[in-house]
Amino acid sequence: MIDFSKAEPFRIKMVEPIKMISREERQAALERAGYNLFLLKGEEVFIDLLTDSGTGAMSDNQWAGLMLGDEAYAGSKNYYNLKNAVEDIFGYQYTIPTHQGRGAEQVLFSLLTKHPGAYALSNMHFDTTKAHVELAGGRAVNFVIEEAFDTGTYHPFKGNFDLEKMEAFIQKEGSENISFILITVTCNSCGGQPVSMANIRAVSEMGKKYGIRVFIDAARFAENAYFIKQREPGYADKSVKEIVKEMFSYAEGFTMSAKKDAIVNIGGLLCIKEDAELYQQCCARTVPMEGFITYGGLAGRDMEALARGLYEGLDEHYLAYRIGQVEYLGNRLREGGVPIQYPTGGHAVFVDAKKILPHIPYYQFPAQALANELYLDAGVRGVEIGSFLLGRDPDTGENLESPMELLRLTIPRRTYTNNHMDVVADGLIGIMEKADKLVGLEFTYEPKILRHFTARLKPVK
Ligand SMILES: *Cc1c(COP(=O)(O)O)cnc(C)c1O
Repeated sequence: MIDFSKAEPFRIKMVEPIKMISREERQAALERAGYNLFLLKGEEVFIDLLTDSGTGAMSDNQWAGLMLGDEAYAGSKNYYNLKNAVEDIFGYQYTIPTHQGRGAEQVLFSLLTKHPGAYALSNMHFDTTKAHVELAGGRAVNFVIEEAFDTGTYHPFKGNFDLEKMEAFIQKEGSENISFILITVTCNSCGGQPVSMANIRAVSEMGKKYGIRVFIDAARFAENAYFIKQREPGYADKSVKEIVKEMFSYAEGFTMSAKKDAIVNIGGLLCIKEDAELYQQCCARTVPMEGFITYGGLAGRDMEALARGLYEGLDEHYLAYRIGQVEYLGNRLREGGVPIQYPTGGHAVFVDAKKILPHIPYYQFPAQALANELYLDAGVRGVEIGSFLLGRDPDTGENLESPMELLRLTIPRRTYTNNHMDVVADGLIGIMEKADKLVGLEFTYEPKILRHFTARLKPVK
C-alpha cells in the first residue's frame, strides 16, 4: 500500500536559500553571542528550530489574500471575513483581532481577575500568559497530570488536567478566589501535548459546578483536535472541524496566537461565545491597547491571511503531514538512542537533556549546553526549556531547579523537509557518543527578568 501521508501535501513555488557557514564561523558566532542562541543572527543558523511562532510558510491562497487587503480603519471587509470564519469554525459570535496572542491576554485577563492575588488555573500557563495573569494582579497555578513530567512513558493526552488535584484546590481556596480556568491546547510547555475531549468537558463541568468561567488558550487548536481524532475513542469518524466545534462549545471565550495553527507571520484573536457584556468590556480595553475593534493592531491584509489560514490549519491532509513530520524526527531520535518526551507532541520534539548530561547540574544548564553543541555540530538552533529559562527565586535569589531540562526542537509549519529533520537527528545522535565530554555554563552577564533572552554565558572550566 502506498502511504500518501508521508508526502508533503503541497508543492513549492518559491524558495528561500539557506546557507551553512563553516564550523570556525559557528564557533566565533557562538562566542560573540555569549553562548546564548537568542543572540545569534538568523543568517548564522542553517536550520532554525527556535520556534514555530510566526515562522511557517503561508500558502499561495494566503499571499493572494494579502493583495485583497481593505485598509479601511473601521469595518474592513477582511475583518468580516475573519469574523465569519470564527463563527463558522468555533461557533463564537464575537471576534476581536489583536496584534498577537499576548495582546488578547492583556485585554482579557485584567477584566477577569477578581481581586489582587486571585488565582488563574490552567493545565500549564504559557510564559506570556503567566506574565499577563501576574500583571493583572493574579496568581497562575498549573494542574497538568503527573505523567507529563515522565518523558519516557506513553500517555495519549499528557496535556490533561489533574481534575482531582484542581477540585481539591478550588475547595480549599474557595471559588471567590479563583478568577478563571484556562485550558491550553495543546499544552505547549509540557511538549505540545494534547488535552482530551473528555478532559475538556470535565473541566467545563467543574467550572459550572463552582461558578468559575472557563476559557481556552487556543494557539494549537487544530493540532489538538487532530490528536483527539487519532487517539480518543468515538472521534475517529468525526472531522477535525467537528471536533474543534465541540472543543470550543465547552468554553465561553478564547485567546489565540494566530502565529501557530493559523499559519500567519503575525496576528492574534480574542473571541467570546455569546456574553455581550464581556465583549463590550473587551472592546473598551482593546481600543487604547491594540487599536480599533475591527483591526486590533493588524492590517486589513493580515486579517485576510489569518481568515484563510484558520481553514488551512484544519485541513486533515496538512495535519497528517504536520504531525507526521514531528513524529518522524521523534522516531529517528528514539531509534538513535536519544531520550525525548514520548509520544511526540504537535509542534516540537522535546529532548530530555537531564538524561543525556547527568553530570551537568541544573545550575549549569544542561539543555543549554546541549543546544549549543547541536549548533556547533549541525548549524541547528533549538531552545532551552529548563532551569536557564526558569530563573531565580525572587525572595532568596537562588537558581530555581526546573523539574525537566529540555531542549525544544520546534518545527515551523510547511517550511522544512524531512531531509532537514535527518540533519537534526544525525547531529544529536552524534552528540550522544561524546556527551560525557560536554561541560556546563556559567553567567558573565545575567539580567534580572526574562534572563534567557539576553544573558551571556561561558563554558565552566
Ligand atoms: C505563543 C503562545 C502564546 C502567546 O502568543 P504570541 O502570539 O506569541 O503573543 C500564548 N499561549 C500559547 C500556548 C502560545 O503557544
